[in-house]
Amino acid sequence: MRSGRSARGEPHPALQAGPRPRMRVHGPAHIGEPPHGRTAWHRERVGSCATACSYLPLLGGSLLMDTDPNAASCATNFLDALTAPLVARGELEKVAWKIGAEIAGPVADEVDAQARFPVETVDALRQSGLLAALVPAELGGKGATLLEVAGAVRAVAMHCTSSALILGMHSIEVFNLVRHGTTPGLRKLLEEVATGRMLLANANSEVGLGGDVTRSRCALEPGTGGGHLEKEALAVSYGEYADGIVTIARRSPDAADTDQIMMVCRAENLTLECTSEWNTMGLRGTCSSGFRLSATIADEDIFPVPFATISNDGAAQARQILLCAAWVGLAEAAAAKAHAFVRAAARRSIGALPPSALRLSELAIDVQAARCQLLGVALQYAELDRAGYGEDAGLMVALRSLKVSTSELAVSTATSALQICGMAGFRRTTPFALDRIIRDAHGGLVMVSNERLLGDNAGLLAVRKTL
Ligand SMILES: Cc1cc2nc3c(=O)[nH]c(=O)nc-3n(C[C@H](O)[C@H](O)[C@H](O)COP(=O)(O)OP(=O)(O)OC[C@H]3O[C@@H](n4cnc5c(N)ncnc54)[C@H](O)[C@@H]3O)c2cc1C
Repeated sequence: MRSGRSARGEPHPALQAGPRPRMRVHGPAHIGEPPHGRTAWHRERVGSCATACSYLPLLGGSLLMDTDPNAASCATNFLDALTAPLVARGELEKVAWKIGAEIAGPVADEVDAQARFPVETVDALRQSGLLAALVPAELGGKGATLLEVAGAVRAVAMHCTSSALILGMHSIEVFNLVRHGTTPGLRKLLEEVATGRMLLANANSEVGLGGDVTRSRCALEPGTGGGHLEKEALAVSYGEYADGIVTIARRSPDAADTDQIMMVCRAENLTLECTSEWNTMGLRGTCSSGFRLSATIADEDIFPVPFATISNDGAAQARQILLCAAWVGLAEAAAAKAHAFVRAAARRSIGALPPSALRLSELAIDVQAARCQLLGVALQYAELDRAGYGEDAGLMVALRSLKVSTSELAVSTATSALQICGMAGFRRTTPFALDRIIRDAHGGLVMVSNERLLGDNAGLLAVRKTL
């Protein structure tokens, strides 16, 4: 076990742990050393629900409410432990929900305010084994499916979307490693991931190319036993805190911009120079600054197949499914606040339906649509992939549509929740505050622009005979 990490089962030792920038980092330190404690407001708001979670079934949001004799007057106590959605029945979802309710949620506002890495949540994810979920059981992991991990991402997102995205982005890289990382070096890396302690980030987007990952400007300079890479990365979420950064580049300086390879930059062989700060309107805990990467890459840390193969055969699909789970969880978080608000109003006026109840039932339709779309497309991918048609063009259209739809639904659900909660949702200091959720939801629209995805679908649909 590495220093700074605690044995599994100890009570949240990460709460004392600071960020672990083990790679050399130069440039503006936009993330200060945070006090990793709960704010007084959070203590008051979450304390009792965390206790309730320890003895009640994780799925029992309504149970949580019913066990509180003062439920009508103290909505504050259950807001962060509202309802693990009914379909959150999987083992991983339960674990993720607990981490969300007990660790990520209580510090989510602090993480947002300070734009800091959610160190305590990520350490809990490490200890829980969720970071190794996708590693096959024979390699020491949990052998989970993409859908199961999507469920975990969604459960965390209800409490802290930045933390959920970290779990999602790391899991995309693990998925790629499992599927395509067949060199001895990458298999060894996967064994390290299986211990649950490795956190992987990605630096795919590049300054000047934005979210177009089908091309690269930078190139691997060949050297003895590997090569050297210099890259102007547009954004690298939690790059300073990761144990390795997976990235893409042209195969060699004379290769075409589409002739790309994927490689792992190990923290010990990597220098990061911060080139842009992360002071954004939302998703602030992802700490997605821009960096100049300078890395020495060993031959065996280069994926043995072209990036185009990795992308078409799983990476693009996993990316959409895992990240869309965060947008669905975010929509659920907004809806949960509106639901709690309406229930509290209903308790105050027994026999008379609160005026906002009707709007809540409309909002429930949107949330149901988001859940069903995610489930439907994830099942569609699993089925097609099993049959060897995972690269089906119709599926690609569906995956992009899923991203556009769920991210837009997160925004519209958050706005509707605000209309339901009114001033209580508009104020930042009430248990119904929707400020962070609304800001985070807008991040979903630009985290690879929906316009770009719609443009890609437009090109495909123009030549396809079927939708
Ligand atoms: C929270 C967050 C975390 C991120 N983390 C990472 C990370 O870890 N690693 C990483 O590599 N990248 C990361 N990124 C960057 C991300 O992958 C995209 O590169 C970035 O969001 C820019 O997306 P874009 O190129 O689609 O849009 P932009 O470059 O922002 O494009 C600007 C606008 O131009 C228009 N536009 C662009 N392209 C098209 C098109 N083809 N058709 C029609 N209109 C278009 C759209 O209106 C778009 O909004 C992150 C971004 C965010 C917001």
